[in-house]
Amino acid sequence: MRPEDKITEVKGIGDKTAATFGKVGVETVYDLIHYYPRNYKVYEQPVSVSSLSEGDRAAVFCRIVSGVAVTRGRRFTIVTLSAADDSGSVKMLWYNMPFLRNVLHKGEMYVFVGAIKIQGASRVMEMPEYYTQFNYQKMLSTMQPVYPLVKGLTNNMVTKAMRAVVDVIKSTEDYAPEEMRQEYGLTPVSDAIMAIHFPETRENLIKAVERLAFDEFFHFILNVYKLKEKNIKLINTHIISEDAISRLNGFEAGLGFQLTAGQKNAARDIISDMSSDHVMNRLIQGDVGSGKTVVAEEALFITAVSGYQGAMMVPTEVLAEQHFKELTERFKPYKLKVGLLTGSLGAKERRLVYERLKSGEIDIVVGTHALITDKVEYKNLGLVITDEQHRFGVKQREKLALKGEHPHVLVMSATPIPRTLAIILYADLDISVIKELPAGRKKIKNCVVGTDYRPSAYAFIRKEVLSGHQAYIICPMVEESEAVDAENVINYTDELSTVLGNNIKVEYLHGRMKESEKTEIMERFNNREIDVLVSTTVIEVGINNPNATVMMIENAERFGLAQLHQLRGRVGRGDAQSYCIFINVKKSDESMERLKVLEESNDGFHIASEDLRLRGPGEFFGIRQSGDLAFRVADIYSHADILKNAQEAAIKYGGILSDE
Ligand code: ADP
Ligand code: MG
Repeated sequence: MRPEDKITEVKGIGDKTAATFGKVGVETVYDLIHYYPRNYKVYEQPVSVSSLSEGDRAAVFCRIVSGVAVTRGRRFTIVTLSAADDSGSVKMLWYNMPFLRNVLHKGEMYVFVGAIKIQGASRVMEMPEYYTQFNYQKMLSTMQPVYPLVKGLTNNMVTKAMRAVVDVIKSTEDYAPEEMRQEYGLTPVSDAIMAIHFPETRENLIKAVERLAFDEFFHFILNVYKLKEKNIKLINTHIISEDAISRLNGFEAGLGFQLTAGQKNAARDIISDMSSDHVMNRLIQGDVGSGKTVVAEEALFITAVSGYQGAMMVPTEVLAEQHFKELTERFKPYKLKVGLLTGSLGAKERRLVYERLKSGEIDIVVGTHALITDKVEYKNLGLVITDEQHRFGVKQREKLALKGEHPHVLVMSATPIPRTLAIILYADLDISVIKELPAGRKKIKNCVVGTDYRPSAYAFIRKEVLSGHQAYIICPMVEESEAVDAENVINYTDELSTVLGNNIKVEYLHGRMKESEKTEIMERFNNREIDVLVSTTVIEVGINNPNATVMMIENAERFGLAQLHQLRGRVGRGDAQSYCIFINVKKSDESMERLKVLEESNDGFHIASEDLRLRGPGEFFGIRQSGDLAFRVADIYSHADILKNAQEAAIKYGGILSDE
């Protein structure tokens, strides 16, 4: 077998399984061996039931002491049973696994592994894994990879496939010459890939992650520099007219607020780039809520008034819809036509948008990835913008630009990165930073609390809602899969509705919903038809509802601080006082200390670097990363030194030119 072979060549993978792998982008053996786990499970010695406290993930060795009950809920089938050891009992609960009735029986003994919830006087383990004592012994103290999964793809399928390609992994050739490996202390690539799929010790796993992070950075940097070399020579054929620039004053007067100094500087940089001899390639970096959208609008405005088209690409349909609405309003007085292009448009509507883009009837288009599909053609594309750049790859950014003849490029990001790293990662871009938040914003009030605070939090949310505001709740996550997370959100919503009462409208949002459903929910939330929105982290990027004043985050300890900061950024966007409640389910000192950072600071840079300091390099498992800059294993904060090495190596061995 060779890396370039289709995965149907792998023993045990037929067409149907191959199609499932296709959903996660795995088509060849090469893709498969580079499909990395997102986490590892460590199986530890079972503990006694009475020693469990809320939030612990633990193994217990118990006898099933009740019958196995199957009840049909409104949305799922629920299987429950009671299990006990000498010290106490615990209720086990599974969603949508009715077959367990035929697997588990009263009197049998199993090791159950899962996270503990305390409900009143009883303990509950939701969706526990179960093993016979014999099988559990075999796994004890090993690290089991947990792969990112989609519907139909199980962890077992990936693990099995990976075992079948061990020979290919072992014979992977290393692109890095011996000398380069020596210089930067790189584990051979074949060892690294072996270790990431089949880790033996924590130490060799960390080495493996470091090697693969290095590779990701190295290739990323090579691409960025290639782009830079290409861009630097491009002549500006979309010169902004004097008229357009002078009409900006009127546009600004219509905003209803004063631009901050940072926004003004960014706008000035853009105008100067777009009137220069060369094409603009600029990054606007500004913390959440700093007001990047209006800067993008100014760029779109001068583009359209000068007679060119502008396109703005965003990572989610919900966000596309939001921007579309705002832009339509803003540009109405100027008779500029705004279009929307997303994946969930009907075929007829979509064709219409294609036609109107090609004819030039649409001046400004907002959309998702749908903007870079082959069908889309423009009449005269002068500016492309990617919002929330960290959610896209360099390739996608480039693809959007290729839709025109060397249009100006503007990218926007809220990822707080120190300047030294930004210069490497965005080497092909000039950078404008918006440092301050708009004036008049009240500082968000934060609190980090335990689960016993929940009733007070709900009472508080109730009070805020009754005074006309809205709230978000980020739901607890069950780590196993997106499907379970979704179910969890639904249950939480049901329970919360009961607690808050009839006159408060609670709805939910999760990643498994259809795009059109998500958009509808967001629309209703923005129109204040929904008071409390329970959601997974899908609302993390870009959402703007200035009337929302409370953000409550369950299981805050499971997130990286940078991501929590992004989530918190959904409130505090208007004039009213806003609040963020972090529920720290696992009340360890460590998680308390980490979360305290958020209580003390609202500064994205500071938070990201503290996160790194408190976690320490290598402490990245078990905490959800925010997927910054679309890296799979690399983390720009904890691998900052590796990033610098990779840049040096790219200059030395990759043939790119240094800036000096
Ligand atoms: P982000 O930088 O996170 O994308 P947005 O562009 O969504 O932030 O702006 C957040 C909110 O702040 C929006 O409601 C926007 O209208 C408002 N806003 C932007 N600039 C200003 C300003 N200079 N003064 C007051 N409000 C502003
Ligand atoms: Mg934004």
